[in-house]
Amino acid sequence: MQLIDGKEVAAALRREIAAEVEKMVADGGRAPHLVAILVGNDGASQTYVGHKEKCCGEVGFRSTVLRLPEQTTEEELLAEIARLNADDLVDGFIVQLPLPRHISEQRVIEAIDPRKDVDGFHPVNTGRMISSLPSYLPATPDGILSLLRYYRIETAGKHCVVIGRSNIVGRPMANLLSQKGWDCTVTITHSRTRNLKEVVASADIVIAALGKAEFVTADMVKPGAVVIDVGITRVPSDKTKSGWKLLGDVKFDEVAPKCSFITPVPGGVGPMTIISLMKNTLKAARREIYG
Ligand code: NAD
Repeated sequence: MQLIDGKEVAAALRREIAAEVEKMVADGGRAPHLVAILVGNDGASQTYVGHKEKCCGEVGFRSTVLRLPEQTTEEELLAEIARLNADDLVDGFIVQLPLPRHISEQRVIEAIDPRKDVDGFHPVNTGRMISSLPSYLPATPDGILSLLRYYRIETAGKHCVVIGRSNIVGRPMANLLSQKGWDCTVTITHSRTRNLKEVVASADIVIAALGKAEFVTADMVKPGAVVIDVGITRVPSDKTKSGWKLLGDVKFDEVAPKCSFITPVPGGVGPMTIISLMKNTLKAARREIYG
């Protein structure tokens, strides 16, 4: 069994991006500029935005965080988005999800100019992705593809089972792995899937993205399978200073010995997600997708 080290891959890609930014600036260009809008006081969202800000600093990007109060109206947020859409000094921006309940996430996503939609959630980018056209790929699936590429994991003709069908992870992941170049035979499963255990046990590659701690057990995994664990669930722990720890969707200790490759949680998919956001921002600054 080989452990897939997301931290190591993320560090290698971070160095590549930093070198490219350095060159852009040395050639007289300006550093890519990423803006994150954070509405309200959600603890996890604040942590994620903090990580993104830190990573921007590490690769030499300019980053701005717009912190808006919980009571911000949808109209006010849409006005902020319109302002960022029109600002030539902003290459890409994200609106950190989830949003407060009184704001429609879909309306917000659709208000972002697809050329600046570095999260890749706008239907124009989703549609382009499904059509295999250049687009900003959603960060988590793209991060997983980078891991598969880095470890030279063979995907052609393999049966990949994706557990979970969310717009940001499961569905785009299934679509991308079915495309030319990756060439998997993909089964997408969800909470209404029958015989899930048997379906997962037939997989050469399992992508677990359902958000249920330690759901995937050893009896669900074929010997030699590749297991990618996307899940992140915080559970109380008396062994850590913080009083909690992170668990993935895979029961790591019993599944790992059966696998050819497996990602740990933390330190697997997580670090890759931010790097993919950086990759998209660099593409936005270079006007690579839309000219
Ligand atoms: P989501 O809640 O939007 O979707 C979960 C999906 O799992 C749904 O499609 C649902 O049908 C499916 N599901 C639920 N219970 C199931 C069951 N018993 N059997 C089969 N399918 C079931 O979640 P999401 O946003 O896709 O995130 C999934 C997990 O990945 C969460 O733990 C989240 O925190 C984590 N996540 C991690 C990263 C990262 O960077 N590592 C990024 C995004 C999400």
